[in-house]
Amino acid sequence: ATQILATTSSGAAPFVTDGGEGVVINLDHGDPTMYEHFWKQKGQETTVVTSSWQHISYFSDIKNVCWFLEPGLMSAITRLHKVVGNAVTEGRHIVVGTGSSQLYQAALFALSPHNASRPMNVVSAAPFYSSYPLMTDYLRSGLHKWAGDANEFSKQEPYIELVTSPNNPDGFTRQNVVKGNKGILVHDLAYYWPQYTPILLPADYDIMLFTVSKSTGHAGTRIGIDSSKRKYLHLGFILKCHSWALVKDREIAKKMTTFIEINTIGVSKDSQIRAAKILQAISDSCDHANQKDAETFFDYSYKLMAQRWKEIREAVKKTKLFSLPNFPQETCTFSGRTFGQLPAFAWLRCEGEVDDCESFLRRNKILTRGGKHFGGSTKYVRISMLSRENEFKLLIQRLPAIIS
Ligand code: PMP
Repeated sequence: ATQILATTSSGAAPFVTDGGEGVVINLDHGDPTMYEHFWKQKGQETTVVTSSWQHISYFSDIKNVCWFLEPGLMSAITRLHKVVGNAVTEGRHIVVGTGSSQLYQAALFALSPHNASRPMNVVSAAPFYSSYPLMTDYLRSGLHKWAGDANEFSKQEPYIELVTSPNNPDGFTRQNVVKGNKGILVHDLAYYWPQYTPILLPADYDIMLFTVSKSTGHAGTRIGIDSSKRKYLHLGFILKCHSWALVKDREIAKKMTTFIEINTIGVSKDSQIRAAKILQAISDSCDHANQKDAETFFDYSYKLMAQRWKEIREAVKKTKLFSLPNFPQETCTFSGRTFGQLPAFAWLRCEGEVDDCESFLRRNKILTRGGKHFGGSTKYVRISMLSRENEFKLLIQRLPAIIS
């Protein structure tokens, strides 16, 4: 009998046994549990105690465009971006959201004209993050519609192009691809952190989305951030809780805030305060890295990702059935290390005659997400590299044992 040992909100089980040797490994979703061990070691340092009388108001800072953004989270975000050097925060408004998924929807709401005769086109270059089409069209809004692969978009119409860099699912660094002057860019920088990619310069785009889900591994806190430049005076943007947006344009930031206000009347203060504590702990450890021998979060997470990528490449080399992408080496301005991307997902290709890589791996009790979900080929699957150690070890044992 199948026994479910744990389930996720999507109903998927990270681990299912059939009672015998055949453990099903579920690496379909990108649940970032791999940093759990690090945070356990931190103990009291990152513990937050909240009394029942605290954080009871809707409001956090009524003078701020994002009036439900906790000042402590705002300073923690600004400080961490400065410490890491991965995003410009000067001249930006910060919008917090319940995960970057809420911010994404807020950004679409803010950037789509509300009086247009046709919905705004939303595109991203394939392979793109599989949730973009779902989130864009879920409510069948008259404001925007999913218009597919940005490489194929040639309409002389306004569009929003999502640029995910490093990209989910394949891990590559990206630029916008649509040639035209009617576009608005939204940069999803969920993985622009030094454990996944060399940081080359502070990102300086009009609307940038970040999330604690993938930076610190606290997906359950649901905090996202958006920041935007000040140029889109007719627009607004939103941030998630546990994700944030850096937005240059005040009006866009306002519209995003309005979306969140209508959607959830703000973002959990308890979550924001927890996120702030965690982000400050990371910045503190980086600031004191030379004085203390304690390992910083980014040292720990970089070494873990580097080790996992070494192991999966070795496992794939032992068989001729699969291949993985290769990445150019670059020097990280934050760590000084020279390395190629260490993506949160392995974009694995089935070589030879296997056309449906997802089904092939499923028959071998490895659950992954097939390429078609990302607007790509069924020869590819996306495998999460962010699982707990025991699931990852099982993957590394099983891959080379698969026979065509
Ligand atoms: N953007 C990208 C590119 C992602 O991979 C993810 C998570 N898989 C998200 C956004 C959503 O993050 P959150 O948990 O903050 O909603």
